[in-house]
Amino acid sequence: MPTSLWHRLRKRIHLVCFFVFLALPFLNVVRFDIPRQRFYFFGAELWISEFGIIFFALMFLMFLIVISSIFFGRVYCSYLCPQMIFSEASMAVESWWKRRIAKKFPYWSPALRRRSARAMFYVTLAPGAVFLAFVFIAYFVEPVDLARRLFSLDAHTAGGIAGATVTLLTFADFAFLRLGFCKSVCPYGYLQGIMGDGNTLLVHYRDQTHECIECKKCVRVCPMEIDIRNGPFQIECVHCGECIDACDEVLARLKQPKPGLIHYAWGEKGELLTGAAAEPWYRRIGIRDAKRVVVILITAFYAAGLGVAFSMRHPVLVQISPERGQDLYRVGSDGQVYNRFRFAVANRRGRPSAVLFSLRFLPAAHLIIAVNPVGTKPGETSQGFFEIAQPAGSTPELVTHFEILASTIPDGAVDSFPMTFLAPGQGPAHSGPGSGTP
Ligand code: SF4
Ligand code: SF4
Repeated sequence: MPTSLWHRLRKRIHLVCFFVFLALPFLNVVRFDIPRQRFYFFGAELWISEFGIIFFALMFLMFLIVISSIFFGRVYCSYLCPQMIFSEASMAVESWWKRRIAKKFPYWSPALRRRSARAMFYVTLAPGAVFLAFVFIAYFVEPVDLARRLFSLDAHTAGGIAGATVTLLTFADFAFLRLGFCKSVCPYGYLQGIMGDGNTLLVHYRDQTHECIECKKCVRVCPMEIDIRNGPFQIECVHCGECIDACDEVLARLKQPKPGLIHYAWGEKGELLTGAAAEPWYRRIGIRDAKRVVVILITAFYAAGLGVAFSMRHPVLVQISPERGQDLYRVGSDGQVYNRFRFAVANRRGRPSAVLFSLRFLPAAHLIIAVNPVGTKPGETSQGFFEIAQPAGSTPELVTHFEILASTIPDGAVDSFPMTFLAPGQGPAHSGPGSGTP
């Protein structure tokens, strides 16, 4: 087995995650726009009123994390979490400055070199903190608006103050707290203790033949500063695998025929991750009991619910309701009967749209509306009223069922709204101008 296997894998995944972290808000893959009260999910602009889709999306994402925790323990922490990624990056930058200053100024005192390296690290971290805070806030504020606030050095509006505060917290986090956050603040590690069980992947020290040479390299490389030999269930362990690489490397140098003494294993007593080739494929990816099958089924249920909710979604939402107050209808001096309706057109997509209203099953009637089609800008709602008029006595019934059609332009989707047209009876008492009351 090559040495540094897990370290190199982890660093490659960190690089991918870094670009994903940047792309998610800027490409609207996942973004919760607080000022505009919109939730963006894989490019779709969801309004807060679209609770069903938002609920299924959040439950689906939450269960993905649950699956990751039950199956693979804290690998999310060490392989995917931005806190871990940027903490390790900030530590790498600081040690780069230490090495560089030690090389350039060997005649300086150790204290001066240390202070200089720290100062240069702060200078490097400052623009990095602004950048990371910008990306983080972009998950909640539209990025163009955010950039405008940043370049105008807005520090007096609520948004500007929030941005400056997040920037300072980001700087303090990666200058001082770093992985201390994972040990003392983040609740995920404690939750992991609840979700894991005897089949969860963990990092395990096994030395039945007493081969450990007590070099303690596994302890020195551990980013969480623990000794894995004290047990696999230490809450600080983020399952990064650095101690596995360290031990493999030490024992390989001693020409040990076997790999090191620390391994990824499926539970405390389970087989090793790298030694399970003879296992069926589903056990090799962690499906080891009925509980895991149930969690996968629940996740699939939320994924299916999300798919169904999306398929039923109307990017341009039209709502129509009869406007019947005291009067059910109005009879005009022109001898026509009028029914009044209220409409709202919500454009939930990123380009302008229009809705053309028309009537079906009411042949003698016509629509009276200020502008038809009704145009709506992206992300906005147009509201108004229209009337439907038809000559008195053109329908024999007091109540006539018909449909209002709403055709969306340009995609041509047509919604139909079953409605009732109310008109006076045919008797002479109702034939003149006036109105109908309940
Ligand atoms: S790196 Fe391996 S050999 Fe060295 S102390 Fe740790 S477990 Fe023992
Ligand atoms: S004990 Fe090993 S796997 Fe756990 S955090 Fe330390 S180095 Fe990573």
